[in-house]
Amino acid sequence: MSLKDRIDGVEQRIGEACRRSRRKREDVLLVAVSKKFPLDMIFEARRLGLQDFGENYAQELRDKQKEAGEGAVHWHFIGALQRNKVKYVVGKADLVHAVDNMALVAELDKRAAASGTRVRALVEINGGEQSKNGIRGEYLREFLESASRFQNVSLEGLMIMPPYFEDPEMSRPWFSGLREMRDKIAGEFPGIRELSMGMSNDFEVAVEEGATILRVGSALFGPRPE
Ligand SMILES: *Cc1c(COP(=O)(O)O)cnc(C)c1O
Repeated sequence: MSLKDRIDGVEQRIGEACRRSRRKREDVLLVAVSKKFPLDMIFEARRLGLQDFGENYAQELRDKQKEAGEGAVHWHFIGALQRNKVKYVVGKADLVHAVDNMALVAELDKRAAASGTRVRALVEINGGEQSKNGIRGEYLREFLESASRFQNVSLEGLMIMPPYFEDPEMSRPWFSGLREMRDKIAGEFPGIRELSMGMSNDFEVAVEEGATILRVGSALFGPRPE
């Protein structure tokens, strides 16, 4: 199957999921996860209409961004970010998807201030016991409260990566849980709007449960090179 066929297929399935759940297509951002794929493929995808690309290795993002040139595409950093890699991402990624500790918020803030920008980011919520990443829902309020003193970091939503399930329906409770978490705190934290959830195997369920950002890799680009 060609890249165009795969992009069209994913688009069609997103469109159908939007119709089923009475949502507008423009309220869902498709981030094409391009990690480990060469820049050529990103450019081809861009010609075919995609604008947002997700990377989860900091140096890879830096290198691709540099080679592609300023403003060529919108980059998203979707992986776990170590503090010593923050410098590769600030000013380069439009959105950092997986912030889960205050030391990272502090470092993002410091680097953003130094380069005169603001970092937009999402808070990663823990997606199950086997995952070491993400904060637990019961600490979210406290986390947002403390993060609010960092003026160069703007937290704009939540992100989750549930365990991998063969059956996409198994992801549904994780996705609805994330939406409920956002809605519960909406009065206190109206800036937390985005829900980054749904990957190749379960993005339609994510749309039905209110995802505003999908992170889809292999369904668009095919199997990832090792
Ligand atoms: C790799 C990755 C994806 C995309 O995975 P696919 O199954 O290829 O769609 C999404 N989110 C994160 C955080 C990833 O690391």
